[in-house]
Amino acid sequence: MTIRIPSRALVVLAGPSGSGKSTWAGRWFRPNQVVASDDLRAVVGEHEADLRAGGDAFDVLDLIVERRLKRGLLTVVDTLGMDTDRLERWLALAEQAKRPAHLILWDTDDKTCRSRNRARAQPVPSKVLTAQLAKWADVRDQLGDGFDAVHTVDDVAVVPELFARAGESAASQADDPVALRFGLQVSAFDWGDNADIAARLGDIAAEAEEAGFSSLWVMDHFIQIPQVGREWEPMLESHTTLGYLAARTSTLRLGTLVTGITYRNVAHLAKIVATLDVLSEGRAACGIGAAWFEREHIAYCYAFPGLDERYELLEDALELLPLMWGSGTPSYDGRRISTPEAICYPRPLQERIPILVGGSGEARTLRLVARHADACNLFGDPATVRRKVEILHAHCDAEDRDPEAVTVTHLSTALTAPTRAELDVKVERLGAGRASPEDVARATNAGSTEDQIGRYRDLADAGVQEAVVSLADVGEPGSVLDFAPVIETFAR
Ligand code: GDP
Ligand code: MG
Repeated sequence: MTIRIPSRALVVLAGPSGSGKSTWAGRWFRPNQVVASDDLRAVVGEHEADLRAGGDAFDVLDLIVERRLKRGLLTVVDTLGMDTDRLERWLALAEQAKRPAHLILWDTDDKTCRSRNRARAQPVPSKVLTAQLAKWADVRDQLGDGFDAVHTVDDVAVVPELFARAGESAASQADDPVALRFGLQVSAFDWGDNADIAARLGDIAAEAEEAGFSSLWVMDHFIQIPQVGREWEPMLESHTTLGYLAARTSTLRLGTLVTGITYRNVAHLAKIVATLDVLSEGRAACGIGAAWFEREHIAYCYAFPGLDERYELLEDALELLPLMWGSGTPSYDGRRISTPEAICYPRPLQERIPILVGGSGEARTLRLVARHADACNLFGDPATVRRKVEILHAHCDAEDRDPEAVTVTHLSTALTAPTRAELDVKVERLGAGRASPEDVARATNAGSTEDQIGRYRDLADAGVQEAVVSLADVGEPGSVLDFAPVIETFAR
């Protein structure tokens, strides 16, 4: 099985001379990622086999390991790897820098090691090799103590840490599948010529339906947000975009992820979403949140009240929206807003347009979800999600709300491709020579189909029911379809 190495890990190689460590390291890692005692003997001594320089070489090696781990750089230590004192030192450095430590073991047989050694330009003296082979047999099985993972040598995939155990999780999904729905979020429109935006967006929606996505979401922003891009990049008005998408699609649920409660008069928002529901023939979702992007409020002449007031407005909206969509024309008198008649015709086609509240604030947001909403939207790794879901369910208990009535959704970035080689090309293109492949892969959660299946299986196990994916290469034709094999494994 392919060995998954987290991209900020310490990787220690262990095996006798001639077992093939340096050759393997050269095949799977960039030269600068490999720190080899042989190379350093040639730096601080006369040549690679200059044993008098051995101590100095290890001093330099330790320093390099320490600095690289601190910086979060993948570091492969190529030595014999049999000296437990040294292993303990490197493990301590990994722990200090909070990096995972992986050990790779070689089980090349003695005869092969000897013959490969003899064929070298500068063989290790045969007595020395004999001693190494004897020691190897002795210590091999204890070397893994303290490492996060121990592997016998195989092919390698360097992956964001999130995918370190994705192989096992993907195998669980194959053996014993669980269901998970997927949504697609389009959060950027920087696809070259603005004249192409409408066509590409229509194609994305068509690809999303073909790929098996259940929903399509856009952000509700007027300026591109700093988490995604630069302020001069194109940003479409959300509900106009959803109206266009309603006409271009037939199965996707459509919504904002999420509308800032400050951006539209709440009754007007109810009217917009009801209209979307009628024109999409019952496919509207209503995402709302407390808003946060102050610069945008100022630029677009919106008031940006304090957090307490925004939460009061959010709770009012959670109460007023269903009244606007429901039967009759009741009055509403809330904390911040009131109306003598909640009137909105045509009423939506859906009996209840699902309301999703964005944000995973534990004290306020999740309590509002439990009290009023149909869905929450979380982010983060499976452990974080698991904790948030527990808190949400505790709020449900306190509010006497059936936790089953609240859908857990999750938002994250992803990048995938049919093969690792194609994924590497995508990562390379997104990095454009400015960012390292490891950094790009981490920022985009880049992973193979199997990696992604494992990761989403973990999220499903943590309680996620609908995973909203923001594809980092959504502007590239075919990118949405590349995600289809992941969705397929979670289809009911
Ligand atoms: P190290 O001492 O463990 O670092 O081993 P090296 O990587 O330097 O390999 C020792 C010799 O074995 C070199 O001449 C390599 O070309 C050769 N070698 C390494 N790996 C393989 C392998 O997988 N197959 C074959 N046939 N030769 C290998
Ligand atoms: Mg070597």
